[in-house]
Amino acid sequence: MSAHRPLSTVELRKQNRNRVYRYLIGQWKPVTKQELAFQLSMSLPTLTQNLNELTEMGLIDRSITTDSTGGRRPRLIVPLPNARFALGIELTNRDLRIVAINLRKETLASRRVALPFANDETYGEELAGLIEQFLDNNQLDRDRLLGVAMTLPGIVGPDQKTIEYAPTIGVDTSTPCRFLDRIPYRVLLDNDATCGGFGEWWNRTDQPSMVYLSLNRGVGGAILVDGKLYDGVDHRAAEFGHICLHPGGRPCQCGRKGCLEAYCSTARLSDDLDISLEVFFQRLEDGDIQCQALWDSYLKDLAHGIMIIHTILDCPIMIGGQMSQYLPAYRSRLQWLVRDLCSPGDRVDFLAFCPSSGHSVCIGAATRLLYEFVKQL
Ligand SMILES: [Zn+2]
Repeated sequence: MSAHRPLSTVELRKQNRNRVYRYLIGQWKPVTKQELAFQLSMSLPTLTQNLNELTEMGLIDRSITTDSTGGRRPRLIVPLPNARFALGIELTNRDLRIVAINLRKETLASRRVALPFANDETYGEELAGLIEQFLDNNQLDRDRLLGVAMTLPGIVGPDQKTIEYAPTIGVDTSTPCRFLDRIPYRVLLDNDATCGGFGEWWNRTDQPSMVYLSLNRGVGGAILVDGKLYDGVDHRAAEFGHICLHPGGRPCQCGRKGCLEAYCSTARLSDDLDISLEVFFQRLEDGDIQCQALWDSYLKDLAHGIMIIHTILDCPIMIGGQMSQYLPAYRSRLQWLVRDLCSPGDRVDFLAFCPSSGHSVCIGAATRLLYEFVKQL
């Protein structure tokens, strides 16, 4: 939409409808028409027309009246959270998670299936079958489905149909996706950390700009600037895991040496020691000296990485991924290490931890479809 020409009637109508709907889903509370007209400074005829359109789209209900005493009871306008829903699917080398969320971001259903990723048609067919089964088992109405947003632990091309690089699922060079054709719905495909970050940002509308740093086996993230995802020219922005911390240091999966991921991947605390993360933190708490030394060096490297990111982007940093369930207990130590790297007078209160949820990537992915729907409405 050009800023240099006046809006057409159609565009103006759409803009008004959008304002009305956004107001309603900003509150998720029943309101009267008079209240809405007042809040939006909109004339009653314009508002009525918009409400008629939203009713027709099945997005609001106007059949309920208030319990006012006597006289004509005003009708209530009720936004309907289940009017649409989206699926988010996280694909990994071991399994997949599938989650359905409604317009209010409430989880309608979820499932985890052991199905190792393979970039071929057989996998695509199994995936398509699982989606249909999931919709049927949970009695989800396909007419209300906005689409399927999928994530991969790797770099996805800007066309969303190419995997550029994803060593953890066995893709080392740019390869077309061979598993998408069987899915008969709108499909989005993107990096897992990018989607996780988007979901966190949507939860925090008070922060138009933020960084999401995802600490899993892979280390990645997302950059949100003024409410927009910053993807980069080649769709590779926020690959924080490959910031070089120690030139010539530990080898990284990317083929280089000394990357943040080589130091702050969960593998360093689990796979490398042949134990689970849970066991690592148990041993740490029990006072195991080796675990303590490793943890101290992990935190120092993490603080270093965080400082580099903050120096460049100067905004709140949210830590997500598997580590976000363990790190809060060590918050003060991490803060202290970050402070130690700052100049006097620098802000050091920019760190926060995402509430841990195994579904955050799926929810973040599906959220992108909700965002798109609300934006174009
Ligand atoms: Zn690397």
